[in-house]
Amino acid sequence: MDPFDSNVAANLPRNMIENSMFEEEPDVVDLAKDSAAFPTFPALDPDEVVYEPRSSRLLVRGLGENDMDEDDEDCESSARLLGMSFMNRSSAHRSSSFPYTRQAPPRSCSRPSARTTVVCVLFLVIVASMTMVLYFLPGCTFTKAGCRKTNKTTPFEPVYPLSTNGKLFPWAQFRLPRSVRPLSYDLTLSPDLNNMTFTGRTVITMSVLHNTKIIVLHSAHLNITKATFKLGDQETRDVTVLEYQPRQQIAVQFSEEMKAGQYCVLTLDYSASLSHTYDGFYNSSYIHKDGKKRVLAATQFEPLSARKAFPCFDEPAFKATFLIKISRKPNYMTLSNMPQAKSTQLSNGLMQDEFEKTSVNMSTYLVAFIVADFTPISKNVSETLVSVYSVPEKKEHTDYALYTASKLLEFYNNFFEINYPLKKLDLVAIPDFLAGAMENWGLITFRETTLLVGNQSSPLEKQLVASVIAHELAHQWFGNLVTMSWWNDLWLNEGFATYMQYMSLQKVFPQLDIGNLFLAVRFRALDKDALNSSHAVSTEVNNPEQVEEMFDSVSYEKGASILMMLNAWLPGEQQFRKGIIQYLKQFSGLNTDTEDLWNSLTQVSVSAQHHNVSEMMRSWTSQKGFPLVTVSRKGGQVTLTQEHFLLTSDKATYSSSLWNIPVTYVTDNCSLGHDCIQMFNLKTKSGTLELPESVKWLKLNYKNTGFYIVHYGDEGWAALKDALSSNVHVLTQEDRASLIHNIFALSRLGRVSFYQVLNLLTYMSNETESSPVTEALLQLNVIYRLLDKRQEDSLVSRMKYYILDRFGSLMDKQTWGEEESVSKQELRSALLGSACSLNQENCIQQAKALFKQYDQSNGTSRIPGDLQQVVFTVAAQSNEDWVTLLHMYHTVTYDAEKRKMLRGLASTQDARHIVWILKAGLRGDIIQTQELPLVISTVCNGFAGYLFAWDFIQENWDRLIEKFPLGSYAIQTIINSATSQFSTQAHLDQVQGFFSSLKERGSQMRSVQEALENIRLNQRWMDKNLPTLQKWL
Ligand SMILES: [Zn+2]
Repeated sequence: MDPFDSNVAANLPRNMIENSMFEEEPDVVDLAKDSAAFPTFPALDPDEVVYEPRSSRLLVRGLGENDMDEDDEDCESSARLLGMSFMNRSSAHRSSSFPYTRQAPPRSCSRPSARTTVVCVLFLVIVASMTMVLYFLPGCTFTKAGCRKTNKTTPFEPVYPLSTNGKLFPWAQFRLPRSVRPLSYDLTLSPDLNNMTFTGRTVITMSVLHNTKIIVLHSAHLNITKATFKLGDQETRDVTVLEYQPRQQIAVQFSEEMKAGQYCVLTLDYSASLSHTYDGFYNSSYIHKDGKKRVLAATQFEPLSARKAFPCFDEPAFKATFLIKISRKPNYMTLSNMPQAKSTQLSNGLMQDEFEKTSVNMSTYLVAFIVADFTPISKNVSETLVSVYSVPEKKEHTDYALYTASKLLEFYNNFFEINYPLKKLDLVAIPDFLAGAMENWGLITFRETTLLVGNQSSPLEKQLVASVIAHELAHQWFGNLVTMSWWNDLWLNEGFATYMQYMSLQKVFPQLDIGNLFLAVRFRALDKDALNSSHAVSTEVNNPEQVEEMFDSVSYEKGASILMMLNAWLPGEQQFRKGIIQYLKQFSGLNTDTEDLWNSLTQVSVSAQHHNVSEMMRSWTSQKGFPLVTVSRKGGQVTLTQEHFLLTSDKATYSSSLWNIPVTYVTDNCSLGHDCIQMFNLKTKSGTLELPESVKWLKLNYKNTGFYIVHYGDEGWAALKDALSSNVHVLTQEDRASLIHNIFALSRLGRVSFYQVLNLLTYMSNETESSPVTEALLQLNVIYRLLDKRQEDSLVSRMKYYILDRFGSLMDKQTWGEEESVSKQELRSALLGSACSLNQENCIQQAKALFKQYDQSNGTSRIPGDLQQVVFTVAAQSNEDWVTLLHMYHTVTYDAEKRKMLRGLASTQDARHIVWILKAGLRGDIIQTQELPLVISTVCNGFAGYLFAWDFIQENWDRLIEKFPLGSYAIQTIINSATSQFSTQAHLDQVQGFFSSLKERGSQMRSVQEALENIRLNQRWMDKNLPTLQKWL
């Protein structure tokens, strides 16, 4: 019932706990918990699930049964629970104005007041009356402990909500019943791009798995105009469709049971508006080079929006085949998952395209279709026709994507030993697209920036495109062929695709040097997972908001990190590969959960040492967070101790979690190369390993392939620092970066002083490699920004001199011409970005000169791709150049450059410009609304911007959640960027006050908890470290 982690709830203000408890349809959520396992269909008949009766369960809680501490229960919550049980016991008591949907919670009565007393007395009266009622209720065995058991001979009916037509809706859960299973969908769609509407007909053929009288499926914002039903050989007849909008479900109810083994067909005609957000069947547009607006329609269904385009069983485990027909004007084209089978002229002058029936069973969230006027380029790869589509004038930017997709498709076909199963694969750049890309089977959709690059684009820009393509292609196996049963295991899709994205690029395009980026994202995943508000990789998901929230760094980057750790631990790379081939083959076309993956990997393990992948990996997927390994050494004896690395750590959040950690380490005897790695399995709280006494230092977590942080103790850190000061190359650059990341994290945890951090950084005067430098700059910038926002002016300038002192000479060595190496580009853009943001004169002058040259060249001169961001950001600081940049933003067609211009524009410190750009992003005319999260996060970096942005978010919250779903990655980004730099009590109160006032419009989101936790941590770090900074900077 509690959507929060219980530990988090303990820390929350009272009113937030209550809101979270009562506004999320507590009864229903609880019932849904039991229905997670679904891969094997005939598991249980949900229609026959014996429900714990709502009234009894609520009463047990309300009357103070042991599951809630009496001190924690206040009179209001009990009264409310009782009130709800009254409301729902009998339909006679329901009124259409009060179905049991979300209601505003009554005022808290925990503060004593006259009103409170009245409410509490009233409550006691209600309790007394209820007790009487219950006592005399048949079927309820009344005991001292409450009505715990129902009499089995007269079970309570589950309490059903009301349909829109006032009749009872025959289903009371968030998850659909499993008694009927769809086999195939026949979809006919007729979009009208002039009026932004569409009509549709969906014919669903189903098989009855268990005797039942109902069919329940999803539908959202569809106006169903006609419904017919045919069971087996019987006549087709009209049926009434009931709708329960809060859960986006529709149902058909029959007087007689359908029997297991029967087949039936439901036909639904409907009409709807094309969505004006970024999900469902939505409209999009772009300005053609003739200056006219062109309209198009595209789909984005993951996770819960297929139901907005056609009525369907919209859960990933309901796989079926699809036959799709779409009508269009003759000057448009259509695309869908499968190749086009035929095209027919309709009597109204339109064409109807029919696509082949899908040759595979697939989940609804992977269905896709597009009506547009795009142009393709194509190429045959093995048995598959690969095409890249874009708006016509961007066709010349599609070559790189076609080349990359072809190479990667060949790689995956070989790597997985299963060929991509469809005859065609389209990659389409959509002008309006919120996510980075979407892996629809056979029809992958992208943002223009993640698919289109020019021939002369920089390797860094190509790296982005290649990496998104690699991710989406990996999904054609992980996600599309084998799909998670439910969203709680989203990481099986996303963690895998993320890991494969980096792994495949390292193999196929080593020149793109993707390793540094993967290392950096693993650091960020650790940072986020160190919060108490984090969650287990595999975690319960019981409402739409929680489904959206699964799309976060835990599912993606932590998922990928633990797979990398596992791969490094298994002997030889083939072992891991064999395991996933086994998994893909065994579950091809089916749905799985996490345990299925571990079992497959265990089955192929060769050596006894590695026999139990499940046992090891369960500790990483079933609990949140990760371990801190502390090293203490006495001569040759090294003791390793593990504990939960939890930034917010107090009695309430204490966790005794243990991980099965495949610890790797190297020493000064041998520290570079695979042969130097030594292994130690730390399963218990502590373990001891032996080293020769002569060993001077050891470094754990070789190349940071493990998902843990290491504390070496004062002596251990000092030894490592000495070793690096005399020769940086005693460790790999990944290991150096990992030391830097870990020591900053330990400082945030309070285990090392900031003096120790600065002490380690003294070695950096000899550092020249990208990963350690970018990590150190990033960490120092975080502190610099916090100080800046606290207006600690003297510390800000001292921090600035500290950074310039450490990195100044390296900054001066950077060039401003074209550079081919990816890692040199990464290093240079980080260094020059910092130098210019710290107002280093030389940097500013160079950037201004490049901008001027670019502006005056009429498109003949180019700014190197990796320097564009620095140059545009510097330009945007002057009023005149900001206007010039805005003009360029209007005219430039090349998307990667356009996005950097936008970030430049948003980095302005001019209040008028800040307000303008925030508003423009929300309006979506000049700046696309899809870019608003980017605009907000950039605005928040600057001192002037972050307060404006926070106000803007508060004022426009309702419009924001209209555009971006609650819990979505976009909303997560917005909340995080707006609040992550607050470090005072006043801001904490403000943020807390605002989000708790939102109630069902967002107060329960995990990102809100994360924001509050981050502010408290910032506050704590500042209190503790300001004196150190005063002393040592
Ligand atoms: Zn993905």
